[in-house]
Amino acid sequence: MNESSSRPRSIDRAVTELARLPGIGPKTAQRLTYHLLRSSGDQVLVLAEALRNLKEGVVTCSVCFNMSDRNPCHICESPDRDHAVICVVENLLDLVAIERTARFRGVYHVLHGAISPMDGIGPDELRIRELVQRAKDTSATEVILATNPNLEGDATATYIARLFEGSDIAVTRLARGLPVGGDLEYADEVTLGNALAGRSSA
Ligand SMILES: [Zn+2]
Repeated sequence: MNESSSRPRSIDRAVTELARLPGIGPKTAQRLTYHLLRSSGDQVLVLAEALRNLKEGVVTCSVCFNMSDRNPCHICESPDRDHAVICVVENLLDLVAIERTARFRGVYHVLHGAISPMDGIGPDELRIRELVQRAKDTSATEVILATNPNLEGDATATYIARLFEGSDIAVTRLARGLPVGGDLEYADEVTLGNALAGRSSA
């Protein structure tokens, strides 16, 4: 009899579900499960409630595709932001990373991925068409391509830049200097802030 069949099903289920999360292997999932079992009932219920609300209380912004508790999101609604400058990011965590630099006062457009033929992700799987339409509709002056400094990010930026060729909208890219192959979300605030400030024509 192996270990998993000798323990209650509910424990197995918790371990299985936790192990699906990124960065959590089976061992960590098991440790977390037994930690939750030992902790007070309240603590587990508070966590369960938080996870339930995570999906129920969060909506996708129909303007920028950020996730927020309202639509449009707080950034798209803010009168303090420059709505003519659109920063294009791959993912929500990249948006969070740029916000953390406190050096960007424009708005965002979240693609929810990058072009990756290997993974079967083409331009139509991303929010690219919406970006082009939005930039034209809102008379944007600048589109900043803040995709990740890797193969997929570069391909995505090149593809988008081409779509704006011949338009009056300036298309820029983050300055080099970000760790190549890494993700924006892991860049430190100073480096990312400098890359943003030093952006140049795409
Ligand atoms: Zn928004």
